[in-house]
Amino acid sequence: MKVHNVELVISAVRPNQYPEDGFPEFALAGRSNVGKSSFINKMIGRKSMARISSKPGKTQTLNFYKIEEELFFVDVPGYGYAKVSKTEREAWGRMIEEYFTSRDLLKAAIQIVDLRHAPSVDDCMMYDFLKHYNIPCIIIATKADKVKKAQWEKHKKLVRTTLQMDASDPLILFSSETGKGFDEAWAEIEGRM
Ligand code: GDP
Repeated sequence: MKVHNVELVISAVRPNQYPEDGFPEFALAGRSNVGKSSFINKMIGRKSMARISSKPGKTQTLNFYKIEEELFFVDVPGYGYAKVSKTEREAWGRMIEEYFTSRDLLKAAIQIVDLRHAPSVDDCMMYDFLKHYNIPCIIIATKADKVKKAQWEKHKKLVRTTLQMDASDPLILFSSETGKGFDEAWAEIEGRM
């Protein structure tokens, strides 16, 4: 998809703040610094739209990006950032649980992991959480440009086995630097709208 119009409609903390447009939603999750903002920006063709509000230490909100009067990207605050207090962590947990367990418009979660390394314990917990609630998952392994092509299959396998991924869940290699995986990721999203 070639995106022309994107608008940050709301940074929500509570369900009564979620948009009421009724468009399908895709929630983006990943640990802090994994490359989630870069993924969103690449997909929407913007340089820094998703970056500003999602940095650690900023208020933790669900950011609803409306794309072409067609769908929403819901940017979930990154997890696994060491300097977050217990209170903030709990608030994060409540907020995402509320969203993921009640939002009928949610079509799939897009979980971003780093292709270079085995998924972290937090990554595995996130995936288990999504699976527990039967939320369809698309896994994006980003920073593929940092891994030699000859190693891609090996790293893919490591992601699949560490997360204990369902064989039917798609795993897409991506690079925000080169644009690798762009068409494949959009096809996966558009196929679920
Ligand atoms: P976020 O905290 O998950 O939103 O992560 P960012 O999108 O801010 O990215 C964290 C760092 O990784 C930044 O320095 C990015 O430039 C870098 N980065 C993100 N995606 C890629 C990628 O596909 N390839 C490379 N080489 N670097 C990336």
